Amino acid sequence: MLRAIWLLILLALGVWAALFLRQMGGNVEISVGQTFIGIPVWLGLLALVVGFVVLHGILSAWKSLRGWPARMRARRAERHRRDGDAAVTRALVALAAGTPDQARTEIRRARGLLGDTPHTLLLTAEAERMAGRNDAANEAFRALVAREDGKFLGLRGLLRDAMQREDWPTAQRLAREAEAAQPGAEWVKTERAALALRTRDWREALALSPPGQLTGHRRAALALAAAMQEPDPAKAATLEKEALSADPRFAPAALAVARRQAAEGSPRRAKTTLQNAWTAAPHPDLATAYLGEEVDALARVKSAEALTHDNRGHPESRLVLGRTALAAGLTGRARAELEGLVSSGQADRRAYLAMVDMDAVELGDSAAGRATEAKWLRLAAAAPPEPRWQCLSCGTAHKGWEPLCESCGTPGRIEWTGSAPVVDPGAAKGGAVATA
Ligand SMILES: [Zn+2]
Repeated sequence: MLRAIWLLILLALGVWAALFLRQMGGNVEISVGQTFIGIPVWLGLLALVVGFVVLHGILSAWKSLRGWPARMRARRAERHRRDGDAAVTRALVALAAGTPDQARTEIRRARGLLGDTPHTLLLTAEAERMAGRNDAANEAFRALVAREDGKFLGLRGLLRDAMQREDWPTAQRLAREAEAAQPGAEWVKTERAALALRTRDWREALALSPPGQLTGHRRAALALAAAMQEPDPAKAATLEKEALSADPRFAPAALAVARRQAAEGSPRRAKTTLQNAWTAAPHPDLATAYLGEEVDALARVKSAEALTHDNRGHPESRLVLGRTALAAGLTGRARAELEGLVSSGQADRRAYLAMVDMDAVELGDSAAGRATEAKWLRLAAAAPPEPRWQCLSCGTAHKGWEPLCESCGTPGRIEWTGSAPVVDPGAAKGGAVATA
């Protein structure tokens, strides 16, 4: 509307100017050779204006004609993009609905319309994987890896597949490439940690585990496993200490630390380590290590007293005191400890078998001796079994602690069955909470 008004004003001005010039009069003369052409000024100007408008029209039409194929192409691309986007949406819906065949059909259509973009390649891979065609999925992932903008997505897909196939060397190579493509990505870190666990590279697994996520016994187990793999003694010592501080109740870590301290010429520090570990959670291996080199039976009783001093009421303390006293011939002392343990109701099979030994020493091969032996053996058979290292994942019993259960392949699940905390009312000043 505004444009029309302006045009009218312009036209009016033009007519007015023409009339004005006509009134003014005057001629324009053009001479070409011998020929003279004379026209009024107003007609000359009019001819100029008309000539300009006609030339402008011709040029505009030519430009429009030349741009026509490009416009057609743009329109077609726009239509393809719209249809392609719709196909991608339908493929996503099909994937979410768990219908891989329909997803594959839609994504093929989308690829035909949109070409190979990171989106279409990723969806192709997911649809093929869902349809169980892993080779086709990996082909799409490899096409992603070849692109700069889809490299990480492709590596991620290939790595997931390699881990599923348990092809560890390939998985490790892909994890390194993914780390290079996207340095510091949290997902890569998690996958590399899982990979390190699967390939039994405990040092790498520990290094990749964030301290906040991996704590307590699991961290202790991993640190000790890493220490066992570490060739550098100084680093191994640090890892052992890290294991012990992560879980002071973890006897194998205390034993490793104490063994190293003793080897470095600090037997007293080694004994303190074992005593502290016993106070935290008694374990027969700690007693074996503590009493280990002592041959004299009475000295062994003294050692046992020193070891158990701060956790006196624990069943494991009573058992070791009873056994060492019995070995030293202190039957009164042994009887007090073992009978106290049996009557506390916390005794396992080992205490009843120690009672058999004690009565054999005291009563000898007599009728009374045989009668009590039968009684203790009966009770031993009904008593809870002695604690042991057991895989909490598959239940297999192990002779000692190991980083990984060879039966089921689960890392960090072998635990001491006697380490469940119980409240022991008989505990001495070492603390009211002890372990059974
Ligand atoms: Zn297992």
